[in-house]
Amino acid sequence: ARKFFVGGNWKCNGTVKSNEELVKVLNAAEVPGTDVVEVVVAPAAVHIPQVLASLRKDFSVAAQNCWVKAGGAFTGELSAEMLADLGLPWVVLGHSERRHIIGESDEFIADKVAYALSKGLGVIYCIGEKLEEREAGNTLDVNARQMKALADKIQDWSKVVVAYEPVWAIGTGKVATPEQAQEVHDAVRKWLADNVSADAAATTRIIYGGSVTAKNCGDLATQPDIDGFLVGGASLKPEFVDIIKSAT
Ligand code: 13P
Repeated sequence: ARKFFVGGNWKCNGTVKSNEELVKVLNAAEVPGTDVVEVVVAPAAVHIPQVLASLRKDFSVAAQNCWVKAGGAFTGELSAEMLADLGLPWVVLGHSERRHIIGESDEFIADKVAYALSKGLGVIYCIGEKLEEREAGNTLDVNARQMKALADKIQDWSKVVVAYEPVWAIGTGKVATPEQAQEVHDAVRKWLADNVSADAAATTRIIYGGSVTAKNCGDLATQPDIDGFLVGGASLKPEFVDIIKSAT
C-alpha cells in the first residue's frame, strides 16, 4: 500500500514571526501517525533552518528547488549537497511556477531530479498541463511528456513522489474535480506500468495539487489513484491540519 503523503508548499511566503505561529499550530495538531501519513512542509530556503529546528520531528522539511549539479560558482543557487547536509529528506522540483514563470525546461528539470536523487534526496516531481493544453485535448500527452522527460534520466523511482498539479488549478480556486484528477492519476500510473515497471506503477505515490482546501480534499482523497496532496495557499493556514487528516 502507498502511504498517504501531504506536502505543504509555502512558496515565496512567510516571515520569521508567521512561521513561528504556523509551526506552533502544526506542532499542537492531533493527526494520524507516520504509519498512516507522511507530512512534509517546504518553507522558503532562508527559513529552512528555522523550521527544521522548531517543527515536530514526525513532520519533515523540504526545499522548494535546488541546483542541477554540484555547487560552486552559481550565484543565488542552492545545491542538493547543501540540502542533504542539512538532513532534508525532500526537494520539490519541476513546480509549474518554475517551469512557466522561470522558464525551466523538461530536460533541465529531469537533470535536477537525477542529480538530487544521486545525492540521496527524495524528490517531489511536479507535472501538469496548462489550461490551453487541457482545452486542446492534450492533457494526457503533456503529462506523459513530462513523465518521459524524467524516465529518460532516472531508473529508480523509489524516492520520487509525482505531484499532478494542473496549472489552471493552482492558486485559482478552481480545483480539479475528483474525476478529472483521478483520470490523470490513473493515466500516469498506467504510463509508469507501460514505460518503467509494474512495481514503480504500484508503489509510486501520485499526489494532487491545485486549490486543495479542507472542504474539497475529502472527495479527492477517496479516489483510488490519489495518494495525497501538495498544498499551496491552504498550507499556510490551520486548515492544513484538516487536509492532513483526510489521510484516514
Ligand atoms: P494552491 O494550493 O495555492 O493552489 O497551490 C498549489 C501548489 O502549487 C502547490 O505546489
